[in-house]
Amino acid sequence: LTPVPSDIEISRAQTPKPVTQLAEEIGLLPGELEAYGRNKAKVRLSLLDRLHTQPDGNYVLVAGITPTPLGEGKSTVTIGLVQAFSAHLKLNSFACLRQPSQGPTFGVKGGAAGGGYAQVIPMEEFNLHLTGDIHAITAANNLVAAAVDARMLHEATQSDKALFNRLVPSVNGVRKFSPIQISRLQRLGINKTEPTSLSPQEVSRFVRLDLDPSKITWQRVVDTNDRFLRKITVGQASTEKGQIRETGFDIAVASEIMAILALADSLEDMKNRLARMVVGTSRRGQPVTAEDLGVSGALAVLMKDAIKPTLMQTLEVILMTEAGFGADIGMEKFFNIKCRASGLRPNVVVLVATVRALKMHGGGPNNLSLVADGCRSNLRKQIQIAQLFGVPVVVALNVFKTDTLAEIDLVCQIAKECGASDAVPCHHWSQGGRGSVELAKAVKEAVSRPNNFQFLYNIEMPIVEKIRTIAQKVYGADDIELSPEAKAKVDYYNQQGFGSLPICMAKTHLSLSHMPDKKGAPTGFILPIRDVRASIGAGFIYPLVGTMSTMPGLPTRPCFYDIDLDPVTEEITGLF
Ligand code: ADP
Repeated sequence: LTPVPSDIEISRAQTPKPVTQLAEEIGLLPGELEAYGRNKAKVRLSLLDRLHTQPDGNYVLVAGITPTPLGEGKSTVTIGLVQAFSAHLKLNSFACLRQPSQGPTFGVKGGAAGGGYAQVIPMEEFNLHLTGDIHAITAANNLVAAAVDARMLHEATQSDKALFNRLVPSVNGVRKFSPIQISRLQRLGINKTEPTSLSPQEVSRFVRLDLDPSKITWQRVVDTNDRFLRKITVGQASTEKGQIRETGFDIAVASEIMAILALADSLEDMKNRLARMVVGTSRRGQPVTAEDLGVSGALAVLMKDAIKPTLMQTLEVILMTEAGFGADIGMEKFFNIKCRASGLRPNVVVLVATVRALKMHGGGPNNLSLVADGCRSNLRKQIQIAQLFGVPVVVALNVFKTDTLAEIDLVCQIAKECGASDAVPCHHWSQGGRGSVELAKAVKEAVSRPNNFQFLYNIEMPIVEKIRTIAQKVYGADDIELSPEAKAKVDYYNQQGFGSLPICMAKTHLSLSHMPDKKGAPTGFILPIRDVRASIGAGFIYPLVGTMSTMPGLPTRPCFYDIDLDPVTEEITGLF
């Protein structure tokens, strides 16, 4: 329709087919499905065993240029593309998206179900709670936080013997270690399984994690942009007996458990990663893990359903991977971290660009030469970043109704000059899959091109060298500069044997540099590394770049002003 109705109107105008029917059409067996109501279902991991001998299909990564805060349409392009492949080119295809965080849904950007005629439906179910996976992450993360503080309190207020008696309770007159406790004993080098055989020194080492309160790295999380929780003081009630310390909240999707969910390939792998998560350091300088706290089994229980993918449908038949933000952020991590863990190699990168973002990079609105400047700076650099990894790049120009033909032609022409194997305007937002058929054909052609995938850095390089490689080759920095705190952390992680992990940079997505207002392709800057943290369970080191925060804030007028429910019809308004 013209004009294109609102996302929620489009979503509601289409009655989704029952998810059981959808599952049958795509070849799932009834026993592989766990329905959550009528429109969505979890897919059991047993499917992986059944399809074990199937050859891998082609793997397309949708990335983007440096976006405006509103997003440039990676989700819509991903969905438009799969609609074009499935409904128009009759090729089997799936989109694999992460469920939206409530942070952006109620904050600035809005939801992430795609938009216009390229959407996952029903979009309100996709955008709100879905099957509760982000809530499960929040629950698991905060259980660890509660376990950390409670353990410090108990250790501070109890003798070795009292702690031992409570940690290894006597049942019918017999004390027995639990499997998780035996695992801890083994890591301490105490090869005993009989509680009575431990010497007093061994009892002390076993019961005291001896966490250093100033070296707790575990934060609490909530799935809301709640900036006032960035720094908090806990333990102020008299019952906590003066165990007061400063800590903070991150947004749930920035948590290590979220990263583990994205990387784990089986329940066992997830459980092992959860157990290895480091929550802080003991006063003796040793890392303390979730397994030391005895909580890792419970975490696996909380997360057992979240690991199963959720099946939903797009407006046109079937459901498709997308890497967040610009290629400098999402794609670099996808290649260097996720592909290293999964062993999978993408065949092609689709790089999403919009005229509005290119104008922003060029320096202003309404001028063809500014669009060209945006292309020759940010778009060219993002294409080059994808090429560093040896994968062909197709540029998808996500067309807005305000774009002129001259602008569209210019972007596609310069994108090809800058090394894209093709550049195609797409109209999935206004036309659905039909508007992405040309893009689908270009992607199909690029898949058959030679692909020389390579990682950007050798995992054995020193931590600082890995960070420098990303800063120089991907962001275009002259060099990096580590704060004294960051340097000390790097030394500590090296000592602990965590030096050979990949790097997950926490940098603003609004610029290739650390300065959100530097658009285009900035040069001549030194990238400041404020702090370096580690997600040992997930398996990466994450440097904090410049003033980057792991808890976003809300603007003065957030999206939630427009979101409402009609109590009579139960209709939701204002979601987009
Ligand atoms: P990203 O995944 O890159 O963050 P999204 O695909 O979520 O971006 O799109 C961001 C917002 O912009 C969504 O609300 C979407 O509906 C809207 N949008 C995307 N493409 C278009 C377009 N061509 N015309 C109008 N609105 C669009």
